Amino acid sequence: QNYIHNIEQRNDEINAVVSLDKDAALQRAGAVQDRMDEGTAGKLAGMVVGIKDLICEKGKQATCASNILANFESVYDATVIERLRDEDAILLGRLNMDEFAMGSSTENTIYEPTHNPVDITKVPGGSSGGSAAAVAADFCTASLGTDTGGSIRQPASYCGVVGLKPTYGRVSRHGLIAFASSFDCIGPLTHTVKDAAILLETLAGFDENDNTSSSRAVPNYRQFTESPDANIRIGVPEEYFGEGLDDEIREGIRSQLAELEESGAELVPIHLPHMKYGIATYYILATAEASSNLARYDGVRYGHRADIKEVEADLKKEEEALKEQIKLAEGEEKVKLGAQLEDMDSPLIRLYKKSRTEGFGTEVKRRIMLGTYVLSAGYYDAYYGKAQKVRRLIKRDFTKAFEEVDVIVSPTAPTTAFDIGANIENPVQMYLNDIYTISANLAGICGINIPAGTHSNGMPYGMQFMADTFEEGKLFNAAR
Ligand code: GLN
Repeated sequence: QNYIHNIEQRNDEINAVVSLDKDAALQRAGAVQDRMDEGTAGKLAGMVVGIKDLICEKGKQATCASNILANFESVYDATVIERLRDEDAILLGRLNMDEFAMGSSTENTIYEPTHNPVDITKVPGGSSGGSAAAVAADFCTASLGTDTGGSIRQPASYCGVVGLKPTYGRVSRHGLIAFASSFDCIGPLTHTVKDAAILLETLAGFDENDNTSSSRAVPNYRQFTESPDANIRIGVPEEYFGEGLDDEIREGIRSQLAELEESGAELVPIHLPHMKYGIATYYILATAEASSNLARYDGVRYGHRADIKEVEADLKKEEEALKEQIKLAEGEEKVKLGAQLEDMDSPLIRLYKKSRTEGFGTEVKRRIMLGTYVLSAGYYDAYYGKAQKVRRLIKRDFTKAFEEVDVIVSPTAPTTAFDIGANIENPVQMYLNDIYTISANLAGICGINIPAGTHSNGMPYGMQFMADTFEEGKLFNAAR
């Protein structure tokens, strides 16, 4: 009731929640309360969780903030949803996001943009901006987001909350609507590191429905937050503190590191020389995967479908106009127009095209074009093939670094949250937001954002710890 009250007070201005399950949540809360009284409740009893609108919950919308899925209802539960329910979490509703998780500001959405609860003239970050804002505004205890290039950690940084991107394969993607399958990770956004650890214990683990999910045992993550060990080696990569980083954020993180050193941590200067290729590599590989994943939205099996009658009528009109032209034409011109008539798309192809044209937003179309281009014969080796090699070099940099250190520290984002509208016309500027987060996705390692301070402009900023694959325990320890 408390969370519903907060939503009713402030969601109009923040717009993090796009669909609220008020009655179901209250009913469920009653049932969980009964189990708590009986002593039979699950581990997450008392946790109220909001869900990014691209994780399937049976019978609920899962729009990906896209017109193409505006009328879509999930027919099954994602594995993470089943696991949350099994442990008695209360699911509250669906949260705003950038369309198909493409973006860094939660402005690419069929809903209005989400506003940052700290200052509503600012973006909350993205693409899990609704998930970060919902936690920051105290609309829920925690939320689920997804991180393909930084989409949990960057909005967590902008909104001043904790955001965890687990190791690739630690959490099942079954029931997550795909953006870039070799990068996508589901993870929690929370108020505290401990809540992130508790949630990961529930979310993590093998799932026979996702053959990239790991069968490694799930550790007791909570223990790492209970008596944290300050005696750790923290790698400080020079490349992450250079040009482009806000001076106050740099200083703020340095002073946090000095404190950690005083309490027993060892700071180790390290190098990650290939990080400078991270953004370019990601935007080749992720768009390639996206162009393939998004091919399934054809308006036929599900999702938005253009009006077939209109399609047929338009086609007929064009055919007739062409036939008129053919009548009047002569010689070569006549042959050319005849061929054009032969080559006209069938109504079904027209239907695909129109459905996709109407269904996808500008950023998604940009990615489909980029991705299709880098996968085309003749360009594949030059772009896609090369990017895969660079991905391996980035991974190797991390593997080498983790031979020496337990965790690596960095800023999460180069600046604090920017003004709504400021970057919307400039995709490259928008892409640069992920400069510090994207390498972890390329390497498949885990990372966490924790609030690190408040800037003199009044906005929060975060710092990131990264750890090697399946070393979330080290992240929780350092973060705590
Ligand atoms: N901002 C990045 C992008 O637009 C990352 C998105 C994400 O992590 N889902 O691709």
